[in-house]
Amino acid sequence: MHQLTIAELVKGLRNKDFSSTELTRHYLDRIARLDPVYNSFITPTPELALQQAAEADRRLAAGNAPLLCGVPIAHKDIFCTDGIRTSCASKMLDNFIAPYNATIVENYLADGVITLGKTNMDEFAMGSSNETSFYGPVKNPWATDCVPGGSSGGSAAAVAAHLAPAATASDTGGSIRQPAALCGLTGIKPTYGRVSRWGMIAFASSLDQAGLLTRTAEDAALLLNTMASYDAKDSTCIERDVPDYTATLNNSLKGLKIGVPREYFGEGLNADTAARVQDAIKVYESLGASIHEVSLPHTHLAVPAYYVIAPAECSANLSRFDGVRYGYRCENPTDLADLYKRSRTEAFGDEVKRRILVGSYALSAGYYDAYYSKAQKVRRLIRQDFVDAFKQVDVILGPTSPSPAFAFGSKTKDPVAMYLEDIYTIATNLAGLPGLSIPCGLVDNKPVGLQLIGNDFAEGLLLNAAHQFQQATNFHQLTAPGIE
Ligand code: GLN
Repeated sequence: MHQLTIAELVKGLRNKDFSSTELTRHYLDRIARLDPVYNSFITPTPELALQQAAEADRRLAAGNAPLLCGVPIAHKDIFCTDGIRTSCASKMLDNFIAPYNATIVENYLADGVITLGKTNMDEFAMGSSNETSFYGPVKNPWATDCVPGGSSGGSAAAVAAHLAPAATASDTGGSIRQPAALCGLTGIKPTYGRVSRWGMIAFASSLDQAGLLTRTAEDAALLLNTMASYDAKDSTCIERDVPDYTATLNNSLKGLKIGVPREYFGEGLNADTAARVQDAIKVYESLGASIHEVSLPHTHLAVPAYYVIAPAECSANLSRFDGVRYGYRCENPTDLADLYKRSRTEAFGDEVKRRILVGSYALSAGYYDAYYSKAQKVRRLIRQDFVDAFKQVDVILGPTSPSPAFAFGSKTKDPVAMYLEDIYTIATNLAGLPGLSIPCGLVDNKPVGLQLIGNDFAEGLLLNAAHQFQQATNFHQLTAPGIE
């Protein structure tokens, strides 16, 4: 059963090949048996999952169940889940039981989707390797001495190890697409505002976006249909109809104009990764697309601008964790200042502290103009690069990350080396655009990803282009060695 895609599970449930209870039990058994190796879950939710599955089986038997009813998925532990610990992989929230559901979780529950549990991640989604989690690192199923990518590393490893058929994730600068690339999965970050952020613990509010990690583009389309909705509780959520993303998957790519940015193939890109991306370009040509060189001239400024804006927003967002209202509180504080100081000192990890310090500095009166306002101006220029490029082409194509999965510890001593992991993904968040990663081959027996970037609300086109690639290739069907 765990070999099946979501599309196949939907059919199997309807044909009564298996019940949701059988399917859910099967996945829960795999999690209990195999996850001690990967550490991809922080909190599995077996009892809840089986209750939900029993209810889904009743709805399926009644005959009018929603399409995804009875399908199990996992949720990144950044999404609030009513009555379940929602830790954001931080000691700060280790004891936090969310009192409500994130809107996207609510959307899935309404459709009868089963919650297998909450997945591991970098602390507060800050990282590219899942090494900053309070609950320990996640291992990449393709090579257990290597990272799965981050920050949605738990969601990615769970799907790659077939411990869940799909998982929710979030992407502030690449946290869906880079783990998708490193674990051989399909990962989509929708347009900013397409999916509600309500109940998703905020890191950098102007960049954060919820999305999905799946095995195929078709599965991502099926799941995005439920995830995307207008939500009045998120003031940045856009009121716009959600198309049926599965309806356009089979559109022909004849005449599609694909732009390849010259800045994405420069120094720092692993030569074998570049070769796999070049091969993918040939596949698109054979499908009838035309390839055009484009330029995104401010690409080199994306990482520096992000590492001012994201820490600035995080320093404001994380000020709510003060030891007073919820989360960790230090023992025996002597006064209020001591309570704040020790609660935050004891419960935040090093990377989170580094970001809060950088962000507070960039926002301080003396440096605001020099750093924060400057970064916002650069952000505008980065967005303009894409606006100009999309006058010439429909989709932009390039690598997702500069190299395949790297060994644990190899970048933790050098934050800048770690930050460069997201060199091709970060600009998309700064511009608010949708981006997607699909597997395009192996390098040293580890997967590498192909990134497709679309114009505002072009999720349907991206999924169509990804699906057509997956009809013509089998990279998405490769399974990590040892995963039966
Ligand atoms: N790796 C980037 C960071 O550390 C992006 C993380 C994310 O997208 N959540 O901030």
